[in-house]
Amino acid sequence: MYAHRPTEVEIDLAALRHNYLLLRQALPPQVALLAVVKADAYGHGAVAVARCLQQAGADLFGVAIVEEALELRQAGIDRPILLLGGAWPGQEDCLVQHQLQTAVFEMAQLERLQAAAARRGRRCACHLKLDSGMGRLGVQPAELPAFLEEWHRFPALDLVGVMTHLAMADLPAHPHNSAQLRHFAEAVALVRQAGFSPRYLHAANSAASLAQPAGLCTLVRPGIALYGGQPFEDQPLAGLQPVMHFHSRIAHLRELPPGHSVSYGQLFVARRPTRIAAVPVGYADGFNRRLSAGGAVLIRGQRAPIAGRICMDWTLIDVTDLADVQVNDRVTLLGCDGDQCIRAEEWAERIGTIAYEVFCQVSKRVPRHYLGQTLLPAAESPAAAGGVVS
Ligand SMILES: *Cc1c(COP(=O)(O)O)cnc(C)c1O
Repeated sequence: MYAHRPTEVEIDLAALRHNYLLLRQALPPQVALLAVVKADAYGHGAVAVARCLQQAGADLFGVAIVEEALELRQAGIDRPILLLGGAWPGQEDCLVQHQLQTAVFEMAQLERLQAAAARRGRRCACHLKLDSGMGRLGVQPAELPAFLEEWHRFPALDLVGVMTHLAMADLPAHPHNSAQLRHFAEAVALVRQAGFSPRYLHAANSAASLAQPAGLCTLVRPGIALYGGQPFEDQPLAGLQPVMHFHSRIAHLRELPPGHSVSYGQLFVARRPTRIAAVPVGYADGFNRRLSAGGAVLIRGQRAPIAGRICMDWTLIDVTDLADVQVNDRVTLLGCDGDQCIRAEEWAERIGTIAYEVFCQVSKRVPRHYLGQTLLPAAESPAAAGGVVS
């Protein structure tokens, strides 16, 4: 009946583009947009996402590691790519060769980058990363004057950006945001006094780019909102569309008598004649095992509860209350069916995490299919855009 296991993720590129435009339209036109596509575009598939966003007009891309940047370069992405956390020692040649931009915050990084750039007779574009209150990476404000003073020893390094990262951006009214932005503004003033004129000043992730007026920033770095995840902790933002839709199909149906238990640990025991659907998706696919208690899926536009524990490769669903359920019916784990939707935030709340982790956990075993390429303008054929369908 099937040529393959019917468990798959559909990535709605039209929704991605919609979310991109929503973010773009919230910004002053002179502010550049760096689309964050680290971690395989939060599990959505970095190449297809970056092709779609490059075509939509994203100015730069942001990744966590050199390998992610190379994947994009090999796929023909030619916009600037920024390594948000810097390169690992030994990767500098590769970084220079592929003209990647990088965050910098330690003298040793500058030494290695300078050496690599000089070896190739190239320049390297760097974004000075400031720790304005995240406590993770970055030059501490007190170290900044000395850091800038030393920079003059590195003639091949161009200081093209100054960046920082906000710890409380998902709660826009929190005073830590304004404190961090104050430190950032002071740092930018010092950088300018030291004779640099960085083109890119940036502090904002999705939440901050939607909540804060750009202020002195000339670039924003949204990630989660592009994928339709809610950026704010305290208030939902209307208009973002989910991009990831996670589906399977009913593989088997069985009738169980009262008293019969279901799955490991006998957590579920039938109290009535019960109809159970076996669905070929499990925690190895990213269907988190902690959804077992209280989680649901959508079948024929209705919610149906998970029965017993989610297994590695299978999940059992109590479909007793659904009329006309049949083998091969579509099962929606994430996304919409009719007017019912299950958003990543619903999973996140149930399992004690955030939508980011829900997306990242959908495993590589689940094939991604890309929808929405037909919405490309006629003038931009998929070939011209580097191909949108992967
Ligand atoms: C991941 C990341 C972002 C994107 O954050 P979202 O909350 O997903 O918008 C922005 N900046 C840096 C430095 C990041 O690491």
